[in-house]
Amino acid sequence: LSEAAQEVLDEIEEKNVDFLRLQFTDILGTIKNVSITADQAEKAFTEGIYFDGSSINGFVRIQESDMRLDPDPSTFSVLPWRENVDGGSSARLICDVIDTSTGEPFSGDPRGVLKRAIKRANDMGYTVNAAPEPEFFLFEEDEEGRATTKTNDAGGYFDLAPKDLASDVRRDIIYGLEDMGFDIEASHHEVAQGQHEINFTYDDALSTADNVATFRSVVRAIAAEHDLHATFMPKPIPKINGSGMHTHLSLFTEDGENAFHDEDDEFNLSETAKSFTAGILKHAPAITAVSNPTVNSYKRLVPGYEAPVYVAWSDRNRSALIRKPAARTPAASRIEARFPDPSCNPYLAFAALIHAGLDGVEQDLECDDPVRENIYDFDEEKREEYGITTLPSNLGEAVEALENDEVIQDALGEHVYENFVEAKTQEHKEYLVDVSDWELDRYLEKF
Ligand code: GLU
Ligand code: MG
Ligand code: MG
Repeated sequence: LSEAAQEVLDEIEEKNVDFLRLQFTDILGTIKNVSITADQAEKAFTEGIYFDGSSINGFVRIQESDMRLDPDPSTFSVLPWRENVDGGSSARLICDVIDTSTGEPFSGDPRGVLKRAIKRANDMGYTVNAAPEPEFFLFEEDEEGRATTKTNDAGGYFDLAPKDLASDVRRDIIYGLEDMGFDIEASHHEVAQGQHEINFTYDDALSTADNVATFRSVVRAIAAEHDLHATFMPKPIPKINGSGMHTHLSLFTEDGENAFHDEDDEFNLSETAKSFTAGILKHAPAITAVSNPTVNSYKRLVPGYEAPVYVAWSDRNRSALIRKPAARTPAASRIEARFPDPSCNPYLAFAALIHAGLDGVEQDLECDDPVRENIYDFDEEKREEYGITTLPSNLGEAVEALENDEVIQDALGEHVYENFVEAKTQEHKEYLVDVSDWELDRYLEKF
């Protein structure tokens, strides 16, 4: 038993943990749980826990279904919102999925996909840091406890109580997150009514992806305790801001220096940072399929709502796809990818971003000058003059871009790529044949 695993066993004893939830995500980013009793914990660490992979979305076929979960002891955390009948508690451990026929990491495990991206960075001499800014809405529930799109506050950007009635909920969410070991930096009421953002400190990319998955479940669980529904759907209400998950990225060298910082550069960005940025810009259309993976994602990526539409970078402008945020210290020099949204599978989205960026670094790609004007105001001619292209305008186009981009396909690996494209093609097709409320409002009585 490793030292880290032994520590977890001690903590299980100390904190009176009865049940352990072993977690992983499917390709679409949904958290899956296998619950075991605490006395199985030692076995879970030494032998792993076997489960049927064929019942998980996009995993394997029935005839090859034996999978194993290997819990990662560094992810142990007691769940703050669950107390069992006898006063005991539940905890979770995030797991790697192992293919029992080979004993190797299962190629369909999103966490494994991200580990492979990080390994590529490590082989180039870098570690990857990431910090997300997940935004979400809090909505009221109806009498049956179902989510509505009615907000329970009328606050706006950075508003304080009493207008911000949701600040109590947000406070409880933050306590819950802190109980689970999150280091919360800030939280605020976002621009839209009922919209919020909570920021936690940056960490290595794997821990950050684990944190995003955890974050979404904590926010939803604690909102539910207040009879509110928290949603990470990208654009729940038309004509107001949607929810993004801006993702800040930087590469550090093995001796702890920020490889993205250059004191002498006008933007304090190194050549490495610029090539990394150029790589993301180059592969942005295909990445979108992964970082903005729902039909609804593309209703957020429209001009006028602080979400990006055009493929360009800027040192200040929020209409750009990638922004260089102001940084107080060399360690804080980083880039902010503004297109991902919180409906993505964070492991896959980070993997796609990292591979695209590293590809740019490997090929010494160069960045155009930053665009400082509001790109929303550009007409087609001006965009052409600046060489600015547009993101896919719907899920179908994004999947097509992915089908034409080998770098992002390789980032996902064959298994995930094929299952992902199949699921998303189906999703887009279903949407295309659906008849929406908009159509009924518009046409039902007119024709
Ligand atoms: N909600 C905006 C989006 O869709 C971002 C607002 C902000 O800059 O924080 O990305
Ligand atoms: Mg924000
Ligand atoms: Mg931001």
